[in-house]
Amino acid sequence: METSKKTEAYTTQMDAARKGIVTKEMEIVARKERRTAEEIRALVAEGKAAIPANKAHKSLSPEGIGSMLRTKINVNLGVSRDCTDYAVEMKKVESAVSMGAEAIMDLSSHGDTQPFRRKLCAECSAMVGTVPVYDSVIHHKRDLATLTADDFVDVVRIHAEDGVDFITIHSGITRKTIEQIKSGKRKMNIVSRGGSLVFAWMVMTGNENPFYERFDDILDICEKHDVTVSLGDACRPGCLADATDACQIEELVRLGELTERAWKHNVQVMVEGPGHVPLDQIAANMKVQQTICHGAPFYVLGPLVTDIAPGYDHITAAIGGAVAAAAGAAFLCYVTPAEHLALPNVDDVKNGIISSKIAAHAADIAKGIPGAREADDRMADARRKLDWEAQFACALDGETARMIRDSRKPEDDHSEACSMCGKFCAVRSMNKALSGEYIDIL
Ligand code: SF4
Repeated sequence: METSKKTEAYTTQMDAARKGIVTKEMEIVARKERRTAEEIRALVAEGKAAIPANKAHKSLSPEGIGSMLRTKINVNLGVSRDCTDYAVEMKKVESAVSMGAEAIMDLSSHGDTQPFRRKLCAECSAMVGTVPVYDSVIHHKRDLATLTADDFVDVVRIHAEDGVDFITIHSGITRKTIEQIKSGKRKMNIVSRGGSLVFAWMVMTGNENPFYERFDDILDICEKHDVTVSLGDACRPGCLADATDACQIEELVRLGELTERAWKHNVQVMVEGPGHVPLDQIAANMKVQQTICHGAPFYVLGPLVTDIAPGYDHITAAIGGAVAAAAGAAFLCYVTPAEHLALPNVDDVKNGIISSKIAAHAADIAKGIPGAREADDRMADARRKLDWEAQFACALDGETARMIRDSRKPEDDHSEACSMCGKFCAVRSMNKALSGEYIDIL
């Protein structure tokens, strides 16, 4: 086996893997995942794991995305008409990465988006993703209907040159989708922002989807810069009633075909998935995707398991995300309490990240990912010892745990228990009973 130090004779991580080359990115991923570099290389060669790593993203700490690896989470940020401060967004990025987000999607949709995107790729250690269709109107400063297929491809090229590691493109819908949606069988039509823009462009211009028709041109760009393609699911269900319907499955079949076409170009692929899905349909959705898309890593947007909890959709998504990841999804897009309601603020972002981390971690334990349960076992030891500092150290959000304990201390300030049970603390009673000590309750 060759190593990347001996040769750079490859285009993408997938190309290297297929040539038997272990890149430095594969070595780093192997260390993080407690696998051998050869195992990671083999997974990347097969397309079962992706290492999104644009050659121009020099600050990247690479991560592997695949159902047999630790479940990763993505955080959506970016400037918009209602939030124009780059510095505030950059602070959110730093805080998201420190809380454990492995990817940041820059969904900027206002002003000059390039400086923020370039800053992100220059400074951010997490993977950076974008949705070029969002940026097309802004970059060209022309209304959607006046844009040409070349205009869309140009924006893909600019994002690739700027250093983004993965791009979401909605290549799976075609003019046939227009008729399906117009038939009115769906309650929520298309809820994907990018998908709705592509759909609207097709309706207004009468042309075929440029991200489908020009897919090979896009792949050439992605291969040159090693940009991973994230095949967007324009027809992801936007409510439980639309879940697993013909629109969703037909698009998925096309995404499976596009996956194979991308792999022929040595371009790494992720496939995006639902959406709003009843709990009992999630595992089946994951299995169908794995089969139709040949085991490509699945990137899910939720799934949200009920439609009636606005304000709490970080919870509905975490329930669905945990089930999805345990059944094979590799990558979870965070959902915040502001979903369906407003732009998330700093607290919403934090709640969304922690909820997604809990879902990802719960799934990793269920899947038996190496080392996944170690922190839980340390927490159990710390709880048995009533060692609060050790408990805060293993907690996913130790700061909040400390704040809650400190704000409601037990009556006896020196008590090793907490105010939940006070002197009736089961842990304290058991520790004392087992060591033959007297147990004072009154
Ligand atoms: S007081 Fe109750 S909740 Fe608190 S540590 Fe003891 S057993 Fe646990």
